[in-house]
Amino acid sequence: MNPKIVVVGSSNVDFIMKVTRLPEKGESTTDATFVQTFGGKGANQAVAAARAGGDTWFVNCIGTDPFAPALKQALIEAGVHVDYVFTREGETSGAALVMIGEGGMNYITVAPGANYSLTPEMVRSLEPLLRQAAILVLQYEIRPETLYACMDLAHTLGLPTLFNLAPARPFDSAYLPKVTYLVVNETEAQSLCGFAVDTPQAVEQAAEALLTRGAGTVILTLGAQGAYLASANLRQHIPAFQVEAVDTTAAGDVFCGALAVALVEGKPLPEAARFACAASAISVTRLGAQPSVPGRAEIEQFLEKAL
Ligand code: ADP
Repeated sequence: MNPKIVVVGSSNVDFIMKVTRLPEKGESTTDATFVQTFGGKGANQAVAAARAGGDTWFVNCIGTDPFAPALKQALIEAGVHVDYVFTREGETSGAALVMIGEGGMNYITVAPGANYSLTPEMVRSLEPLLRQAAILVLQYEIRPETLYACMDLAHTLGLPTLFNLAPARPFDSAYLPKVTYLVVNETEAQSLCGFAVDTPQAVEQAAEALLTRGAGTVILTLGAQGAYLASANLRQHIPAFQVEAVDTTAAGDVFCGALAVALVEGKPLPEAARFACAASAISVTRLGAQPSVPGRAEIEQFLEKAL
């Protein structure tokens, strides 16, 4: 039997406007092109894990808006199990309004909608599923109390957690000891540590500080610089793969999903991180969040070529 990866998190309907120039306050512009895609960090990570070959189960709430069936269908087509994607009557699925302007500058507004209907009680009812899981993957687009309930339950069950503290929001660091793998980018590390994480020295200092505060393993993602790993007896920088970046949306999500797959397959951490760097490098060469996620064969071919 394949080890189960359970992802608890958000799903969003993304409405993306590409403009040549972002409007000023109160201004209307009419030169946009429009695309509607599916995103949300939880859904992106579940899709990334499933495409990378993981037996992936997604826990999430969606609404009964006209986009909800297609949102669910996109998960199914990626190979994600949706038995625990709950439909909330009369609610609206999470939605993101994204305006992308010159040089990738953007305005983004997220309405959590049904994502905030996932309660600690619902999480606690997942115990039978979590008992069969090999890892629990979490991000921070759900209610804090629901996130903490996930961490408490995983801790009680002795289930490893992979927590991507994204987006950066106030987080009770008393929960860090319940995080087996903490994945943060420089901005998120800064919000946790309280100092700028923008030099190689600061990256190392941030990793040490987070280990001291109880995180089991710290994985700092560094964009085109790759990732820095720190655990009890390991400190290692994993370089990024050199690619032509087109759109880095969801690079961190693809990294987390692929990392979870490699970890449950028993790959040592540096090898797992290299697999995740390969998956995310491929994803930044393509537009969009979920449409850019690579499959297992593509990741393996990419790694072979890079040798
Ligand atoms: P986030 O999207 O959360 O800000 P990062 O930007 O750190 O996360 O990207 C996550 C991972 O994606 C990095 O660790 C790296 O492996 C890969 N990645 C991101 N940008 C690039 C890039 N320009 N070239 C190659 N790999 C990249």
